[in-house]
Amino acid sequence: MFLMLDEIRGLLILQDRDKRLLTLAKDLAKLPQEEARARAKLAGDEAAVKQAKDALNEVELRVKKIEMDAETRRTTVKRLRVQQFETKKNEEYNALGHEITRYEKEVDEFETRELQAMEEVDGYRIKFQAANEDLGKTRAIVDADLAAIRERHTRMEQQQKELHAERDKLVQSVSEDILPLYEKLLKSKDGTAIATLRGGKCTGCNMKVIASTAIAVQAEKEITQCENCGRILAMDE
Ligand SMILES: [Zn+2]
Repeated sequence: MFLMLDEIRGLLILQDRDKRLLTLAKDLAKLPQEEARARAKLAGDEAAVKQAKDALNEVELRVKKIEMDAETRRTTVKRLRVQQFETKKNEEYNALGHEITRYEKEVDEFETRELQAMEEVDGYRIKFQAANEDLGKTRAIVDADLAAIRERHTRMEQQQKELHAERDKLVQSVSEDILPLYEKLLKSKDGTAIATLRGGKCTGCNMKVIASTAIAVQAEKEITQCENCGRILAMDE
């Protein structure tokens, strides 16, 4: 009688460790998702940096283009001045003078536009720096999150190792004719092979057991299974 009681108690301890192992395995399987979620936090900030960089590049290119346009006209002005200097005809001299004035006016306009565009460059450069700083801050948070996940991973694996070692010892004290039934139930009954009898009901399936089952469980002389779900029944202590 006491032997059977010890057997059931042993099984309950074994089941407790098996449940912990199951939970650990499930939690470990979730870690890659958690890592991915942590990394995803970077995506928004990285996109903002890229956008700021693109805008900066665009306006910098615009400055270069304006510079080139101004330079072309400056060269033209130089050429026209030489022509004007060399001409002997009054009419041509005056016509070239008009052209020179027109091109110089254009150079002035391009220079004004260049200054405006350069101010824009400053603005975009500040935005780009700010976006980079935000990314740096987020990266620090994400790195800390990832480090915490890695630490948890190591701790859980250690726990898993300890529980496996403990389980190996516990299994040795379970009789060979019960162990296969226990392990089969553990798999098929979602980690609960042994249920307790409470108020005449099996806590595994929540069904009332028949009187003879309840009596057998109370007697604790043999392994008794719930006639409804098949789980091994133990007295509720
Ligand atoms: Zn049951």
